[in-house]
Amino acid sequence: MTFVNVNGKCSDCHSMFYGTIDAVPATNARVIMKSSFHGDFRKMHNHKRRLIGSRKERVMNTMMNKKTDPSVFVREEAAVLMREGDAVPAQIPNLGALRVPKHRALVSNRLHSDPMVAVRKMKYLGEFPNTIHDIVYDKTFVHFWSNLQLQIYKEYSRKERIITVSFDATGGCVRKIKRNENIRSGPIFLYEGVMSIDQHTFTVMSMLSERHDKLSISIWLNRWLRCGVKSKKIVICDQSLALMSALTQTFTQYKSFEQYLQVCFSIVVLKKEEELPTCFIRNDVNHFVHLISQWKEVKDSKFVRTKELIIRGMGLLILCTCIYEAEQILEAMFTII
Ligand SMILES: [Zn+2]
Repeated sequence: MTFVNVNGKCSDCHSMFYGTIDAVPATNARVIMKSSFHGDFRKMHNHKRRLIGSRKERVMNTMMNKKTDPSVFVREEAAVLMREGDAVPAQIPNLGALRVPKHRALVSNRLHSDPMVAVRKMKYLGEFPNTIHDIVYDKTFVHFWSNLQLQIYKEYSRKERIITVSFDATGGCVRKIKRNENIRSGPIFLYEGVMSIDQHTFTVMSMLSERHDKLSISIWLNRWLRCGVKSKKIVICDQSLALMSALTQTFTQYKSFEQYLQVCFSIVVLKKEEELPTCFIRNDVNHFVHLISQWKEVKDSKFVRTKELIIRGMGLLILCTCIYEAEQILEAMFTII
């Protein structure tokens, strides 16, 4: 009599596996199984091992909780199990076999299949009290910031005299919403106001928006200002006209961005005595340099040194503290070019 008998057959190469454990093992002792494996098991296998049981649980756990992408998961497994030149072993699942259960698990966690209904449900869940403010369905926008975010901002603005907040919009975070079978929403961007507190990035306010015009951004900024927070002294943004205009209207005393520019010009260049703007609008260095690198003449230039000279020379303008310095740099550059 044997205690355990295991017989297995590989469906790919038909090789046979037999294993036996003779006697009942003692508790907590190591168990040794006598095993034999016959057949052509070294040939290429096409079938994958099915993802089931505890292994499936472990895989799903890694993908859901650690937010690992299926392709990253496969790469990590391969790094452990394979050496260079090895065929992919059967226990590493296909990407499809990982994507489908991950997608199913994500869908089952959703509050509603319609993202806008889900957002409305989220608004009244205990998990996010007073965080989601206005929700508009078509053209979509959602304003959100929590009480804690407001509190941190208020506390910081009490301590610091000059508050700097950077604004930016990113696409690609949110998928377009299906309006019906054929019609989808426009691209939805995530707008954020971010500041640095004790060398940590802190998000002050956020908005998801399908519209990217001055009016929509202004409404968002003004809604936030209504929460009884102090205005900012410096705002940094990219060179999007809508964003710069909305920031001017909300945080400075001027009605339009053109007016703000005129005032700045007359203070800096014409040296006129004017009331200073209540908030300075600055362009983000990265966006500024990127914009110069996209100038047609710079982009198409065959000479690396010409590109470098123009990009770095224009970059120097950022460091200027008076118009005289800027004029000198520009003059020098035009002389060389
Ligand atoms: Zn086999």
